[in-house]
Amino acid sequence: MASDQLEVRLRGKHPTEDLIYDRLVDAIIDKHLRAGQHLNEVKLAEAYDVPRSRVRRVLERLRDEDVVVFELNRGAFISRPTVEDARHVYEARRELEVVVVKLACQRATPADIARLRDHLQYERESFDRQDPSVNRIASEFHHLIAKIGGNPVFEKMLSVLIRRGVLIQSVYERKSGILCLTHEHEGLVDLIEQDRPEEAAREMIHHFDHILSSLDLSETRRLEADIYEFLKS
Ligand SMILES: [Zn+2]
Repeated sequence: MASDQLEVRLRGKHPTEDLIYDRLVDAIIDKHLRAGQHLNEVKLAEAYDVPRSRVRRVLERLRDEDVVVFELNRGAFISRPTVEDARHVYEARRELEVVVVKLACQRATPADIARLRDHLQYERESFDRQDPSVNRIASEFHHLIAKIGGNPVFEKMLSVLIRRGVLIQSVYERKSGILCLTHEHEGLVDLIEQDRPEEAAREMIHHFDHILSSLDLSETRRLEADIYEFLKS
């Protein structure tokens, strides 16, 4: 779906930049926007009924998070991550998730555990009905753990890496691939509830081994990605 055909559900006449940002991120996560796709600043401004400068600020924010790139005289595009980007992002994300899950073990309240279990139920249902947003729902589980970890600095860093991970996934996922396995999420919630940080950390590493193995970072895929980049220019 082209950016100008994006379904836009306005909340009020002049949506805030945060709302436009959230809509674009959701469109990436749900694969309405793909890596390498052009973002037409004028059409986005018309769609959201806002000045172009406001759309530009949102795009600049996404550029700062390496989700969007600006090309001279051509405008804004969704980034196309390389194999090296993929390895670096997942390596950083795994280390951060290990820290965050340990904090979540220490700080989770019974209400937090109940929220995690509600989310797991939602994940299972979305998986069973083959919801196209299943990967977004699985990503929200990781956001929730970061929130429960109670450190907004880690939470923000992780949000950026999760968004970049979604883009990487859209380029490099295997056809069969489901990235997050719900039963592994269940195991993590059990360990958080029982306040077993070292085991939760090991489980998180194990989870990331699976996530990485569901990506095709082979030389063949690297060449395909490069060829696409070449054809685009
Ligand atoms: Zn996961």
